[in-house]
Amino acid sequence: MPSTDRKIKTAGSRILRKNSGCPIHFAGSSRNGWDSIIPTKISSIQRLFVPILASILLALSIPAFAQAPSPNRFTVVLDAAHGGDDTGGTLKDSSGAVTPEKTITLALSVRLRSLLAARGITVVTTRESDATVDDNRRAEIANRPGAQACLSLHATQTGSGIHIFASSLPPAEPSRILPWKTAQAAWVTRSLALAGDLNSALLHAGMTVTLGRTALTSIDSMACPAVAIEIAPEAATGSAQPLGPSDTAYQTRVDQALAAAILEWRSNAARTEALHP
Ligand SMILES: [Zn+2]
Repeated sequence: MPSTDRKIKTAGSRILRKNSGCPIHFAGSSRNGWDSIIPTKISSIQRLFVPILASILLALSIPAFAQAPSPNRFTVVLDAAHGGDDTGGTLKDSSGAVTPEKTITLALSVRLRSLLAARGITVVTTRESDATVDDNRRAEIANRPGAQACLSLHATQTGSGIHIFASSLPPAEPSRILPWKTAQAAWVTRSLALAGDLNSALLHAGMTVTLGRTALTSIDSMACPAVAIEIAPEAATGSAQPLGPSDTAYQTRVDQALAAAILEWRSNAARTEALHP
């Protein structure tokens, strides 16, 4: 089995490979933190209000990051990417039937929620129906409970196996107040550890895994260990027709492996807390 390190790819080539309607493929790498919130060309009147606006934005950002996770409640956020007007990519199953990505991500989220809830894990979802949810709203929902893991679920027809993306933001020291657009920087080291546990569980389940880093607006604003998981068709083995993300049997196997990974992540977190109470 090839080592994980050799499978790590930079996000660049992947980002530009196609425009499928799913931002995970073509998200840009530019980000401006506060610069994009506070206008750079302003009138004198606006100049008076900018500090006030900045104070309001700061105040609004504090509750998202000040809530410490409850020690007795292990919470996972499941983000079914796309939804409503945003259909995401388009996927075909082996019969040629077309399914929008948003439908597959919701099915993955609903099933995984049940698997985790059955194991006593508190689950928060960003959507439970075919609803439009913008990136900031997804991050707001993810940041509220002080979750121990946030998984953003995508699906694609391109490539094979499971693609796991952590934020491409460079790690930053945790602080009480974080810029909304780069909040993930303080968590990215934990996110990479989460990606490692997911990688192990998926490999153990016999799946092919590709690890990468990319810029995704919703993930970059999340103040929790967060990764985007993109389900591609299973890798071809022998003469059997590989299943795709719209196949329920494949979705179930992926969800079961993801649930196993979260359980491992919870065990590791408990051990860490026991060592560092
Ligand atoms: Zn997507």
